[in-house]
Amino acid sequence: MLKKIVIGNWKLNPDTSKEANKLFLGISKLASKMKKTEVVVAPPFVYTSLCQTKSKKLALGAQDVFWAEQGAYTGEISASQLKDLGVKYVIVGHSERRALGETDSQVNKKIKAVLKEGMTPVICIGESEHDTAGAYLSFLSNQIKSAFSGVSRNHFSNIIIAYEPIWAIGKNAEDAMSSRKLHETVLYIQKILGELCGRETALNVRIIYGGSVKEGNAEDLIKNGEVKGFLVGGASLSPETFNPILKIVDSL
Ligand code: PEP
Repeated sequence: MLKKIVIGNWKLNPDTSKEANKLFLGISKLASKMKKTEVVVAPPFVYTSLCQTKSKKLALGAQDVFWAEQGAYTGEISASQLKDLGVKYVIVGHSERRALGETDSQVNKKIKAVLKEGMTPVICIGESEHDTAGAYLSFLSNQIKSAFSGVSRNHFSNIIIAYEPIWAIGKNAEDAMSSRKLHETVLYIQKILGELCGRETALNVRIIYGGSVKEGNAEDLIKNGEVKGFLVGGASLSPETFNPILKIVDSL
């Protein structure tokens, strides 16, 4: 059984280290009580050292990484630097980074850099429009094939795919994808992974969902969407909205 996971992506929040510390403590209190769920917090890089815990239940994540190990790359942060700070999960190819110009080939290089350091890449994929003709399916297939290009099968079980339809991000609970459509898409992602590495191995890749996950839709999405957890943006910015999601996921 693959363990469920909930990852909080703080994006460019909060404004101060004092607020970041308060948020982290609020989440870690509940995370330490989780029985069946891994909890990950992905703060902005500058708060990474501040979000440290001895609890095995709460892991540290990063929102991005650079592919090179060192050199003349002003402003970038390497996979080994993240690892040194205790980071275990690295979000790669988030749609907000792709919107800033990140390409499939750069995403692929970042995934390889993360795997080389023994951390887990959380690969974000997702269409901007869920068209009824199904063109989004070949879009997803291309994103997956390009992300996994040249990645050894041995690594597949240490990879998470975060399916995040762009149209569902940053909205209210009712704007999230329906659990029925989510399940269909999960099956499709598994089929594409199966073509890459065989069905058995494909089933070891955890697929999670992101896009307006809230307390009100978490149970339906995880139960009927058949995902192994969530990547949560807005609702991860306060223990009052994040902790109920954790409780729901852990209770199932
Ligand atoms: C995200 O941007 O990864 C995300 C899922 O955001 P939200 O939960 O706010 O839709």
